[in-house]
Amino acid sequence: MPDSGASFLDALHGRVEDVLDACTRCGKCVEACPMVEPAGIDASDPAAVVEGTLDLLRGGTGTPEAERWAEVCTNSGRCISACDYGVNPRFMVNMARIAAKAKQGDEVVRRNAHRYYSDMSRGTRVISRLQLAPEVLTRLNPPLRPAGDYDSPPDIVFYTGCNVIKTPHIALLVLEVLDRLGVTYEVMGGVPTCCGIQQFKQGDAKTAGRVGWNTIERLSRPGAARVLSWCPSCQVQVGEVALPAWERARGDMPFELSPITEYLAGRIEDLRPFLVHPVRKRVALQERAALPGVMAAVKTLLRAIPELEVVELDVPVVSTQANHLSVLPKFKAELRRREFEAAAEAGVTTFASIFHACHRELVKFQPQVSFELLNFMELIGESMGIHIPDLYKRLSLMGDIDAVVADSADLIAAYGLDLETVRDALAKDMFGGK
Ligand code: SF4
Ligand code: SF4
Repeated sequence: MPDSGASFLDALHGRVEDVLDACTRCGKCVEACPMVEPAGIDASDPAAVVEGTLDLLRGGTGTPEAERWAEVCTNSGRCISACDYGVNPRFMVNMARIAAKAKQGDEVVRRNAHRYYSDMSRGTRVISRLQLAPEVLTRLNPPLRPAGDYDSPPDIVFYTGCNVIKTPHIALLVLEVLDRLGVTYEVMGGVPTCCGIQQFKQGDAKTAGRVGWNTIERLSRPGAARVLSWCPSCQVQVGEVALPAWERARGDMPFELSPITEYLAGRIEDLRPFLVHPVRKRVALQERAALPGVMAAVKTLLRAIPELEVVELDVPVVSTQANHLSVLPKFKAELRRREFEAAAEAGVTTFASIFHACHRELVKFQPQVSFELLNFMELIGESMGIHIPDLYKRLSLMGDIDAVVADSADLIAAYGLDLETVRDALAKDMFGGK
């Protein structure tokens, strides 16, 4: 493969030039952004915030408001539909963040991004191994095969992203549903098939490009026309950044990428005969803003379950996943308080996460609420008669590193994990208090 990092950057710069040409500085994207107010950004002159953002894109110093906006963007995407001039402001703001971080110098940016990625990667490796026997882990993370190794293309590639395997029951439930539907699939994901968002968020666009394009090449190996993503961060990063850059640089689009929930909702009539067990629950969802089509799809799936009632909550819907909201910790805690309060007032039996990173943070609060906290895939499983236990929740609710280590002793030994690494990963990842 050529120096994909460099051509990725060329493609990004071409898109930035298009933004600079097309943006009229109307400021509607600032007005629509749900992060502006909680971040304390002075948006009395939205056009000025945009002008500062464009200045960053041109290599200028920008303004404090523009830098802050770029820093707190959680990819909610409300800005996208607000723009009447064909700009994707989510891309614009992400590129402004990269420009702002570039002021720290290449070496610092690369080092920070590398540290961030290494922590995530180690956490994923350890936390998944504390839950899964090797053969189950292989089902979710099969070894990568060469392109010529596939006799015929599967119906789909299921792209899990890098870290859903920390909450493996979610991905395993998806596989069970695909099996019942008779879909042929190749599962691809894990840390080596990262979308590049970790590096991109930290400002290291060149590494993000290399990682994202390596992943696109891998996802294209089985020859499936459709790749279905689980992770919303991967969907945005590959779908809106890496794939368009690939197409711009290379002139082809190797596959169509869309969220797996939308695919399943599109096949609801095929799925309905399997949703046989009534689930007598009042369910509210922890909605996120980045992919509205996923929210609609999850509701379609849940409404097909006999006797299940979906309850709407009047709370703000922002961000991609809970981890993105860590840029504004007070706002994040307040949002969760409002979600729990609204769910209790609505008398729900169940408050369900949609995405895996949200789920990891949510389940820790089980002792504090009167309703059950689970992932929506568990409800689909329940109606289909499939139960896969949430081992992450079980370990997390032990509340203590020593207890988890003792409980996982067999798997720690089976994988030959270093105890200090396990403790460190648990401290940061499971009991990090994020
Ligand atoms: S993507 Fe969302 S958080 Fe980012 S700027 Fe747009 S509206 Fe704001
Ligand atoms: S990106 Fe679109 S919405 Fe935002 S200022 Fe430019 S033209 Fe207006």
